[in-house]
Amino acid sequence: EQTKHRNMEFGLFEASELAEIQDRYELMKKLRVALNNEEIFIHLQPKVRLQDRQLVGFEALVRWRDANDRMIPPDHFVPLAETSGLIDKLDEYVAVRACEAVKHLRQAGIEVPISVNIAGSEFSRADFVTRFCECLQQQQVATHSIEIEVTETQLIEVLRSAADYLDKLSALGIRVSIDDFGAGYSSLSYLSLIKAAELKIDRQFIMRMEQTDQDKQIVQMIINLGHLLNMSVIAEGIETESQYQMLLQMGCDAGQGYHIARPMLLEDVLTWSESNQEINI
Ligand code: C2E
Ligand code: MG
Ligand code: MG
Ligand code: MG
Repeated sequence: EQTKHRNMEFGLFEASELAEIQDRYELMKKLRVALNNEEIFIHLQPKVRLQDRQLVGFEALVRWRDANDRMIPPDHFVPLAETSGLIDKLDEYVAVRACEAVKHLRQAGIEVPISVNIAGSEFSRADFVTRFCECLQQQQVATHSIEIEVTETQLIEVLRSAADYLDKLSALGIRVSIDDFGAGYSSLSYLSLIKAAELKIDRQFIMRMEQTDQDKQIVQMIINLGHLLNMSVIAEGIETESQYQMLLQMGCDAGQGYHIARPMLLEDVLTWSESNQEINI
């Protein structure tokens, strides 16, 4: 206790804090290497239209299997990449992988868009729209084949520049989805300022909507709000058939979640897609 007091007085770090900073530093160094090393790859998670379970797109989710064959979850390294200036590289890397996947899938007769998650800080950079489009052009992928997801919380933080970018992206044919909608403390007023194509209802509401009526009402409100504003509405984190049916009844357009399919490698998408088609028939 005395040491702790002394350390605080002199602005020194606690041993545990120091270890944490070192851990973060090590992880950051490893991430830098990983990006050049193909330790980073993507999983694709299907999005389906609820009415008939037809595939309408995929979300690209970043994965990191390190040199020791351990999977490091995105919740660990995405925030770190955001604070250490690596996020632009990471998101661009994922965008390129997503473009490649679009082309692969097209060859297999699957023509749906893939969405990529873009960090708010990245989204607010002056050259974001230009760089993003250049990337698509270089990959020879049409603008309607790649969509962007930005979380509501991060979008609000950069709203001043974002409103303008959303207009530009929309004019270019790139759809933007507001991810984790309802999870933050944002006000609704910003929605009239921006041009987004989709609202994605945060998983926490889907998780609780069968237990608590309030959460169900919030989900219904988000669906109605999205439709009023001419946006399509998708639910994330659907884990059961009864959640699926409830959302369908409520008029939700699309869904994503373990009940429909887990995020998976491109190879497995082809097999999944075949069996999903059989379900549809
Ligand atoms: P998100 O964009 O909201 O992605 C949805 C997360 O929910 C994913 O976690 C997905 O694997 C998980 N999920 C999907 N269906 C279910 C379900 O039915 N039940 C449960 N419990 N979870 C489900 P993941 O892959 O761990 O990604 C976490 C977050 O990391 C993402 O949340 C996103 O914000 C961020 N992220 C992932 N990839 C990227 C990326 O390439 N760039 C950036 N900037 N962020 C990324
Ligand atoms: Mg997302
Ligand atoms: Mg989400
Ligand atoms: Mg989420």
